[in-house]
Amino acid sequence: MVDLQSQYQKIKGAIDQSITNVIESAAFINGPEVKEFQADLEQYLDVKHVIPCGNGTDALQIALMALGLKPGDEVITADFTFAATVEVINLLGLQSVLVDVDYDTFSIDTARLKAAITPKTKAIIPVHLFGQCANMDEIMEIAQEHNLYVIEDTAQAIGAEYKGKKAGTIGHIGCTSFFPSKNLGCYGDGGAIFTNDDAIAHRLRGIVNHGMYQRYYHDEVGVNSRLDSIQAAVLRHKLPLLDGYNAARRSAADFYDQAFAGIEGLLTPTRATDYSTHAFHQYTLRITNGQRDELQAFLTEKEIPAMIYYPVPLRKQKAYDTGKYIDADFPNTDRLIKEVMSLPMHTELSNEQLVYITEAVKEFFVK
Ligand SMILES: *Cc1c(COP(=O)(O)O)cnc(C)c1O
Repeated sequence: MVDLQSQYQKIKGAIDQSITNVIESAAFINGPEVKEFQADLEQYLDVKHVIPCGNGTDALQIALMALGLKPGDEVITADFTFAATVEVINLLGLQSVLVDVDYDTFSIDTARLKAAITPKTKAIIPVHLFGQCANMDEIMEIAQEHNLYVIEDTAQAIGAEYKGKKAGTIGHIGCTSFFPSKNLGCYGDGGAIFTNDDAIAHRLRGIVNHGMYQRYYHDEVGVNSRLDSIQAAVLRHKLPLLDGYNAARRSAADFYDQAFAGIEGLLTPTRATDYSTHAFHQYTLRITNGQRDELQAFLTEKEIPAMIYYPVPLRKQKAYDTGKYIDADFPNTDRLIKEVMSLPMHTELSNEQLVYITEAVKEFFVK
């Protein structure tokens, strides 16, 4: 699905040197690389504050902690996504409210989002799933109308643009992950939080550092979540390459799109070109002829990896099943979990590999 070795080989000299520099300086924590990467990312995103942290899940948790919500307050997010979002809501004693997604864009369905708002709703966490931004204009309008915070989960969409602005800089807070296979991946765990709000940024900086705003004075319960210097050094080298990496993903996606055009029983990813570019963290097909699992087995036989992101809706996970959700409210999620299949997508796909993969998929559909 990914090829991090080949990507590394192309940048090995510079990466090895920057890692060695950190080791020789012995400034493993809070070394100059962290501040430098923070400034570089602020400039790249055109955002006032970047707060580096330990991973993407921490970023989401810390973002929620900075909003000063009370136990029982409701936070709305999507039913069809990775579990980190709903996990941190529940971890903090908040009430998660899951809603269906749009069938074409895989992002939170704004009509159902609106319908899920109650007097207890305090925040919305849209997820820019698979690399494409959710409909932020509609989400921000709903949030404004009901006085809600918006935290963007942009773990899969760093570098994507929403109407010319970088994903993660439109809501009150943006959160991302530098997990190795993400579009901007480091060589371990890493994450970051973004905001244009000075007061929120101040609070985030305190929370990531044990609730400490002045050395050894703890004003609130915080966490310890840091991006280490070695990861920052890797990211600092890779950030200038991100746009090129995303362009390589897009060109692989274009190849797939063209190869699959007109095949009956298969839908290629919808591009919401009215408002978002696509960073193609995943290239996710919908197999509408009921043979998704057969296709996956067929590809596996040809040594082509194909993954199901995600096979189980969050509302049906043991940890998050409140018993209150009604299936009729989730027609798209329930369809998508049976239809989606993601093909190999990364920065190093060769023409030969793309031909091999697309020919195999086509063979399945004509046989
Ligand atoms: C990867 C991911 C996360 C979590 O990031 P980690 O760095 O692994 O903690 C959160 N949300 C989404 C949508 C993700 O894809």
